[in-house]
Amino acid sequence: MTQVTVRAPAKVNLHLGVGGLRPDGKHALATVYQAVGLYDDVTVVESDHWAVGLTEPADGVPLDDDNIAIRAGKALAAHHGIDRAARITIAKGIPVMGGMAGGSADAAASLLALDRLWDLQTSDDDLLRIAGRLGSDVPFALLGGTALGTGHGEIVTPVEDASSVWWVVVLSDDGLSTPAVYAHFDELVPDAPVEPPVPDALVAALATGYTDEIGDLLANDLWAAARDLRPDLVDVEVRLRTLSPDGVLLSGSGPTLLVLHEDVEEARTTVAELTEQGLRCTLAPGPVAGAHVVTYG
Ligand code: ATP
Repeated sequence: MTQVTVRAPAKVNLHLGVGGLRPDGKHALATVYQAVGLYDDVTVVESDHWAVGLTEPADGVPLDDDNIAIRAGKALAAHHGIDRAARITIAKGIPVMGGMAGGSADAAASLLALDRLWDLQTSDDDLLRIAGRLGSDVPFALLGGTALGTGHGEIVTPVEDASSVWWVVVLSDDGLSTPAVYAHFDELVPDAPVEPPVPDALVAALATGYTDEIGDLLANDLWAAARDLRPDLVDVEVRLRTLSPDGVLLSGSGPTLLVLHEDVEEARTTVAELTEQGLRCTLAPGPVAGAHVVTYG
């Protein structure tokens, strides 16, 4: 095999419960991830040195060894004790610094693509372990579907999800730094629990698949911190709530906002109304599959 392309999805956090800062500098999370249909495609080819490029320019994506797709490739090579490198090309469909884990998707895609390119036959458990060391959201990008995330988000357990929903994804022109949002959360909530509680009611609602019930239970502990750092989001949130009082959510650490719909036609109407108001938005179904090979040759 000389070339492999893997597609990996964005995620939303239907519930993002955040605990206090741990001694290792990470936050304990109790989150419910759902993979949604915005994708990055990552193509790898054998090379004698590491290199990364984008099919289209995108602000904020490093084009050197800091790119998490390269860090993932190096971690996989180190795990197997091999000295190999690759040229990685990323086609970004996931907003950069949007709170939808685009970088994590690229890391997951890179792991899977290089495992196949080099025929390493890494076990799923090992891939998840390597992924978890790269970033909290990387294991979920491998898994996809809907899953409970604990630890600092890296311990993923699939949950039954009978829902089939459409997210209106409201994009922001400027990104929001995930570390800055967490740092402000620490200031706002100095007494956050050591272990945030698992959202049992949401997990039960997902098993029934009732969108209204799921909409009522959407929650994100980072919302207050994101609103403080980006006051302009408040106006957008108010406009979204007039369209859908219960199904509005901040995606991860933001600034992307989401509106939940069961019906695709209603979702399209929302997109049309918001576009008319001058907002930039797109549609994404959920849940969808995790990282998967789309072409090889
Ligand atoms: P998360 O929700 O996981 O915190 P995000 O979706 O808000 O992340 P990303 O687009 O993943 O944001 O980017 C987060 C940071 O990672 C940025 O500072 C960016 O420079 C860096 N980064 C490294 N590699 C990549 C990559 N392949 N794609 C996007 N960002 C990357």
